[in-house]
Amino acid sequence: MDDHTREIAEESIRFMLKAVGDDPARAGVLETPQRVVKAWGEWFAGYNTDISALFKTFEDGAENVDAMVILTNIPVFSHCEHHVAPFHGVAHVGYIPNGRIVGLSKIARVVEAFSKRLQVQERLTNQIADAMQEHLQPLGIGVVVKAQHTCMSTRGACVTGVDTITSAMRGVLQNEASARAEFFSLIKGV
Ligand SMILES: [Zn+2]
Repeated sequence: MDDHTREIAEESIRFMLKAVGDDPARAGVLETPQRVVKAWGEWFAGYNTDISALFKTFEDGAENVDAMVILTNIPVFSHCEHHVAPFHGVAHVGYIPNGRIVGLSKIARVVEAFSKRLQVQERLTNQIADAMQEHLQPLGIGVVVKAQHTCMSTRGACVTGVDTITSAMRGVLQNEASARAEFFSLIKGV
């Protein structure tokens, strides 16, 4: 972010502080605009992540691996694009390798990179699956995201304790009931 853009962004936060009835010149919030803009930079750092670079380091020796690999409870902390309100939860990501595997931590990084953008949960779920399809070309992919949306729990309907669950299936997990059943049985209860 260049200095000019940052100044305008900070100014807009001062306007927002005023709009909700606070005094932007009050000591306690004097440096809030800078802090907010900095925090946005961290929350939305995913726009700057090169997704394809995360898949560059394949691990060889997986020719005979055709069993499902599943990572459960990958943390998801994102923001809805409608209210810029946080939504948070977990992702379960499984795939069946097709001759190559990727470092497990890289899958968590992919989830993080797409989470740190303005999102809707449905698109986030699909983007994780599509990125794995594009770069890994496995036999099958299953992604389930379970999250709670603060735009629903703290405003509007103010309903708490509601989980939103979205899923995206690719390849054999989409086409074969037995593979899909295996995936869901393995993530059941986690
Ligand atoms: Zn929202």
